[in-house]
Amino acid sequence: TTATATTPTVPSGDVAARATAGFRQRYGGEPVGRWAAPGRVNLIGEHTDYNDGFVLPFALPLRTVVAAAARDDERWTVWSELDDDPVEFGPAEADEPGRVTGWAAYVAGVVWALRAAGHAVPGAWLAVASDVPVGSGLSSSAAIEAAVLAALVDLGGLDLPAERWPRLAQRAENDYVGAPTGIMDQSAVIRGRPGHALFLDCRSEEVEQIPFDLAAAGLAMLLIDSRAPHRHVDGEYAARRRSCERAAQALGVPALRDVPADGLDAALARLDDAEIRRRVRHVVTEDQRVLDSVGLLRAGRVRDVGPLLTASHASMRDDFEITVPEVDTAVEAALAAGAYGARMTGGGFGGCVLALVEAAAADAVAAAVAAAYAERGFAAPATVTALPAGGVTRLD
Ligand code: ADP
Ligand code: MG
Repeated sequence: TTATATTPTVPSGDVAARATAGFRQRYGGEPVGRWAAPGRVNLIGEHTDYNDGFVLPFALPLRTVVAAAARDDERWTVWSELDDDPVEFGPAEADEPGRVTGWAAYVAGVVWALRAAGHAVPGAWLAVASDVPVGSGLSSSAAIEAAVLAALVDLGGLDLPAERWPRLAQRAENDYVGAPTGIMDQSAVIRGRPGHALFLDCRSEEVEQIPFDLAAAGLAMLLIDSRAPHRHVDGEYAARRRSCERAAQALGVPALRDVPADGLDAALARLDDAEIRRRVRHVVTEDQRVLDSVGLLRAGRVRDVGPLLTASHASMRDDFEITVPEVDTAVEAALAAGAYGARMTGGGFGGCVLALVEAAAADAVAAAVAAAYAERGFAAPATVTALPAGGVTRLD
């Protein structure tokens, strides 16, 4: 990514070549194959997942690639370009969550989850390269999990239908790494399809491919890294979750997803805390915005999703209170420069902003956001254009 201008999507050839070069350099042989998995971004549906609601992510053209080969013994050696030295582990470490720590835990977690499900996981040499920025909310974690999972399934000829991959990768992250995340990231990264977004019901875990062909519509999505310094994200996230749980309890429903949009006013009238009322209003209206977005996209009305994105942002800013000046500035500047809609995406307090724009206007909108940042003295935002891409795949 460059500091201010939009850049074309990173060619996958580069990252795949880096994985192969790393493999040759570290292990002195040739990989048997290369597997790639994308990052993801959530189009709309924020803080709805743990309320049993709806999300609508899509896979990004940024990818993590694993070059791999099976080995004769039951050991796993993994190298990533993020680190100097490879990490090696065997069944003892793989079978005990917490034994492998640091970034390699994401790899050991996949081995663990496969073995726990009864699969004979082949030992392997693995080399990882990635264009997905790490820790920016674009799910580099699900990308590495999915790419490693695909590699091990193929190398071992494991009988594991793709519908079961998201749950397995989620277990790796929840139970081995110890990061409590929902099913959205792994679903998007594994099941993403070019020109589509993935409509996910977080209660039933059912998914549906929704047409979202920006290129065919002459549109582009700007992905603006707000560069906002992180502020108390974990504590704030936990507090929002608690508020939602308390509200559901007070309303006598299993989760806020069970408050229908047309029953919102009645529900709010039953809550005496003004802050809790705002939190509930965000979640209930946000679920409805996801459903409305899905309806518009099914009808091919991509531009009309813009106002829903902007309404989602306003709801996160005013009711859920999870935005910060940097992301508000990016949204306002993008809208003033002609974006159809814009919103912060991800858990909040920074991260990335999405802006839906005419493809021909992408550079101008990105420049307007950069100018607004400069005026306020914020660190320059990094902007790329992102078309909905495909999920995990074997490259060769
Ligand atoms: P996000 O998923 O938003 O990027 P996370 O904190 O969930 O952020 O996951 C980031 C972590 O995943 C990294 O700190 C690292 O441990 C691991 N990881 C992701 N990509 C790679 C990679 N290419 N090589 C090694 N580790 C990676
Ligand atoms: Mg992650």
